[in-house]
Amino acid sequence: MNILERYHAMDYGPAPEARYEADAWLAARDFSKALFIDGDWKAAGGGKTFDTSDPASGKLLAKVSDAGAADIGAAVSAATKALPRWSASSGYSRAKALYAIGRAMQRHQRLFAVLESIDNGKPIRESRDIDVPLAIRHFIHHAGWAQALDKDFPDQKGVGVVGQIIPWNFPLLMLAWKIAPALAAGCTVVLKPAEFTPLTAILFAEICERSGVPKGVVNIVHGGPEAGAAIVNHPGIQKIAFTGSSEVGKIIRKATAGSGKKLSLELGGKSAFVVFEDADLDSAVEGLVDGIWFNQGQVCCAGSRLLVQEGVAEAFIAKVKTRMSRLRVGSPLDKNTDIGPLVDLTQLHRVKGLVAEGAKQGAVCWQPDVALPTSGYYHLPTLATGVSPANILAQEEVFGPVLATMTFRNTEEAIELANNTRYGLAASVWSDNVNLALHVAPQLKAGVVWVNGTNMFDAACGFGGYRESGFGREGGREGMFEYLSAKLPLGPAIKPAVAAAQSVERSNGDTIDRTAKLFIGGKQVRPDGNYSLAVATAKGKLAGEVGLGSRKDIRDAVAAARACKGWPEATAYNRSQVLYYLAENLSGRADEFAARLTELTGATAKAAREEVDQSIERLFLYAGLADKFEGRVHQPPARAVTLALHEPVGVVGIVAPDNAPLLGLISLAAPALAMGNTVVAVPSEKYPLLTTDLYQIIEYSDVPAGAINIVTGRTAELTGVLARHDDVDGLWVFADAETCAKTEADSVGNLKRVWTGNGRSLDWASTEAAGDAFLRRAVEVKNVWVPYGD
Ligand code: NAD
Repeated sequence: MNILERYHAMDYGPAPEARYEADAWLAARDFSKALFIDGDWKAAGGGKTFDTSDPASGKLLAKVSDAGAADIGAAVSAATKALPRWSASSGYSRAKALYAIGRAMQRHQRLFAVLESIDNGKPIRESRDIDVPLAIRHFIHHAGWAQALDKDFPDQKGVGVVGQIIPWNFPLLMLAWKIAPALAAGCTVVLKPAEFTPLTAILFAEICERSGVPKGVVNIVHGGPEAGAAIVNHPGIQKIAFTGSSEVGKIIRKATAGSGKKLSLELGGKSAFVVFEDADLDSAVEGLVDGIWFNQGQVCCAGSRLLVQEGVAEAFIAKVKTRMSRLRVGSPLDKNTDIGPLVDLTQLHRVKGLVAEGAKQGAVCWQPDVALPTSGYYHLPTLATGVSPANILAQEEVFGPVLATMTFRNTEEAIELANNTRYGLAASVWSDNVNLALHVAPQLKAGVVWVNGTNMFDAACGFGGYRESGFGREGGREGMFEYLSAKLPLGPAIKPAVAAAQSVERSNGDTIDRTAKLFIGGKQVRPDGNYSLAVATAKGKLAGEVGLGSRKDIRDAVAAARACKGWPEATAYNRSQVLYYLAENLSGRADEFAARLTELTGATAKAAREEVDQSIERLFLYAGLADKFEGRVHQPPARAVTLALHEPVGVVGIVAPDNAPLLGLISLAAPALAMGNTVVAVPSEKYPLLTTDLYQIIEYSDVPAGAINIVTGRTAELTGVLARHDDVDGLWVFADAETCAKTEADSVGNLKRVWTGNGRSLDWASTEAAGDAFLRRAVEVKNVWVPYGD
């Protein structure tokens, strides 16, 4: 083609990025010694390696050491040995190390970008302009957190040795998201990249070596699921940070149950891209290209479900098709390429299989007439229309360049469709009416919402999911908490509840039925099974009876809690007033409650009165904090503000302790309620009468029906029902170790947010047993990005 013909075609010529530096780097290394352990390069003990290949050609790039359990053990030992010094080092010295890493990465920016594109297949434009700069920013941003630690997180300390497992779609960026906050918090790490994409992590380890990071602080091991599992199960690790599929996330949740390991899970998504009829359609099309075809759609927060308002659907789809026909599919190293190959042949087969199944289920799958390169794992951008909400393409994460389209009539329907997924990672809302967009954003069950934009990320802004997209946040202040733990005053182990009260003589000659009922949906109701539980006084006499709650009662209580809209939608000021009423009304009956405490627990009159007074004080505290534990506004380096909003977790189950049966329950329920959660409480099995005595107080205090539900009965049994219930969003359990472990294991169904004391009791009277540490567990942080300017 001569220049005149090229001018008329208005087509781009090839613009390949040079790869000789990367090839030289590859040629100069012995990848059979790629494990970076204790500052040294090691071969896998068993001498095993695995292949990493170029997805654009299928050609082998390197044979990389495949770590076995013994190698993981050596890495954990190195991290453990390095921990005391690193965690005790000044924030300033850790800040300098983080900054040095960031600066060294800047000096190798090009090499990082080319290696990433060669190993993963992502277009160089993306690795060069997005992945690598964001990764660098992450280290430099977190240098500041290292220094601000003592001032900003005075009641927290680093968790210790951290195991980190990451996926292949953003190999360097995910590494940065994991390592930077951990180092800032004073933790040492053992990180495993995904087996498809180990290369940039190896270059990163070289950077650590050269940047003066002390030996053993960063350990990088390679391998697949077995190496990952060895990290997850290693007893020397105090926290697991995982990014990957929801399927593996659930395996890890189960494997860590009862281990006491802190856990954060950043998992899959099926994010909605919502286009209202008043949106700037051309901008929305560009946003959509970025939303679903960025990194070939291999993005956890890909806008893979297009929801478009009926009135503009036809015009919008036509524009999308025109734009799709212009997408350039080709070599990742060509600077004009929009879409590169998928990461691996297995992934290509998976995506093709899902598209075929979607079509079988009625979707019409359209692809542009674009030639594919003859080698490599390429898949054409695909648009599926006529997709029913139950279609596999609307429900399953495809993790490929496939967009499922649906239409909606009005705002309510848009929200309902957007939330019709088990995931909850991100969403994008397009409307020229910012009021409408900001009305919709809080109603979307997603950790990140972009208004008139998509795929905006920054080190200062939290990122993470709701529901089966996992829990925990990465980035900024929110992300730092994942590597810190509150200094809670944990006490001795809690003993399993014994059914002692059944031996209490039931009849005391009184023929009037005084069995306390359950409290569900604002009413006192009989337990479904019509059984009761005898409650003993401290002297072993019959104090009374309470309903023996069952699975059905818990289900009714959860349904009532879910149906209660009056509480989560009330203003924080309203909630605060109701909590003040509760405190006031409890105060009016303080003597009676103190006497009851003495009768049941044998506490002295003085101690009992103290517990009641502290309970009232705690209600007052959370009444006051209800409208003060607010979100933040982040200011990322973009023309946008990011509103980090605090939202209630949803329906929260609370299993109250035996020690301080009144104060313990109130210390857990009050912060949950203050933040707008609805509660299903299981009171102490031994002393439930203290809670049933609260019914009248609740009834007199303007608490909306369903905001607080109370089911008395056997702790272990009722906790199990709550843990397995998929409509419970959070569960806080202070019970024996076995019940706590089982709760964590049973919670995998919907990946509810579980908080247990790991079988240890808490000193509920202490000041640490109240305040921000509790409120933080009662909220999800949603980051809403709002760009500004023309
Ligand atoms: P994957 O779950 O198969 O693998 C992720 C990592 O876990 C890999 O390093 C793998 O070797 C390791 N692994 C696999 N089985 C394991 C086991 N049993 N125990 C321990 N480790 C194990 O996921 P993937 O295919 O590599 O990545 C794609 C997934 O990652 C998608 O679902 C995507 O949505 C998700 N993702 C989420 C985020 C987020 O921030 N939420 C970001 C990127 C990717």
